[in-house]
Amino acid sequence: MAQPVYFTPGPSELYPGVEEHIQAAMAAKLGSISHRSQQFKSIYAHAVTGLRKLLALPENYQILFLSSANEVWERAIQNTVERESFHLVNGAFSERFFEISGELGRSATKYKVPDGEGFDVAQINVPTTAELIALTQNETSTGASMPVADIHLFREKASPEALIFVDAVSSVPFPAFDYTKIDAAYFSVQKCFGLPAGLGVWLLNERCIQKAELLLQKGLSIGSYHSIPSLLKKALSNQTPETPNVLNIYLLGQVVEAMNQKGLDLIRQETELKARLLYTFLETSKTFAPAVKEAAHRSLTTIIATTHLPASEVNNFLAPHHMVVGSGYGQNKETQIRIANFPAHTVDHVKALISSLHALDLA
Ligand SMILES: *Cc1c(COP(=O)(O)O)cnc(C)c1O
Repeated sequence: MAQPVYFTPGPSELYPGVEEHIQAAMAAKLGSISHRSQQFKSIYAHAVTGLRKLLALPENYQILFLSSANEVWERAIQNTVERESFHLVNGAFSERFFEISGELGRSATKYKVPDGEGFDVAQINVPTTAELIALTQNETSTGASMPVADIHLFREKASPEALIFVDAVSSVPFPAFDYTKIDAAYFSVQKCFGLPAGLGVWLLNERCIQKAELLLQKGLSIGSYHSIPSLLKKALSNQTPETPNVLNIYLLGQVVEAMNQKGLDLIRQETELKARLLYTFLETSKTFAPAVKEAAHRSLTTIIATTHLPASEVNNFLAPHHMVVGSGYGQNKETQIRIANFPAHTVDHVKALISSLHALDLA
């Protein structure tokens, strides 16, 4: 039976070539090599060099490998917040980062708007005592996103010492960040990189590193094997403190190389084109409507629609067309569908999905 195309917002459709890269990894017995070997260090360096190029990452940024974005949340609080973090919350993922700060004993405050809404940044006052400002570029649970220009405004709004952390888990490499306006961004490979889950990637500048060292000097706990200094010490020699997800680091290097060959400009153009096709369809559909009302706050990488037909029935209809969309998040499970628009999804995939959803409209 033909396998479906996964439009689920992560895990999602794998990037073209991943199956072959996995076969090549097995043929080279990468599951057996030492993570202290030169062979592994080369795999690590290939992934990091490729990512630096793809993202045009400045020299003052480091790339660290963790297990997931959830882990980055915990490590970010442990390593860079002594007392207080401040969170913009408009959905389940931004809320979860806020909760984690509290669970780790910090005082977390939030500026919250209803699910599906974006932020009017001019209205937001950032507490001067906040050490970390948590922004979510793309709220995968609701389909609301923050324009990059709005994110950049926080450098002026926050106190000079505050660190600006951007959750871009379901949008990197799409957003064109000015890395001088933020201090850290992070993502997971099962979203836009089209890989199996199990690797979180943390981009962070020297200000985050200095903060971790300061907390350590004060005698505070910043965690153990995945503290920033511990990760960094190994990263400088293309290694990780623990035995890492070697296979995924290898696969990330291969996918990033393919993305660099294709070019980020083209990936961004295609993302915009596919998003436009999807939103244009949703706006005229009888069954669906864009869940985010304000066009400027609509995500281009995870497109969410309200649906008159339960999401499970939408997927029943799509099954013979060999396609799967994401159900709504949490309590919106049946009342919304979520459509990933990742680099692995081709323009033809999206056109085929729209034509099937259109057929459902007419059914
Ligand atoms: C998926 C996702 C996460 C969590 O990623 P994990 O790899 O499951 O930890 C966090 N934030 C956003 C916006 C996400 O889409």
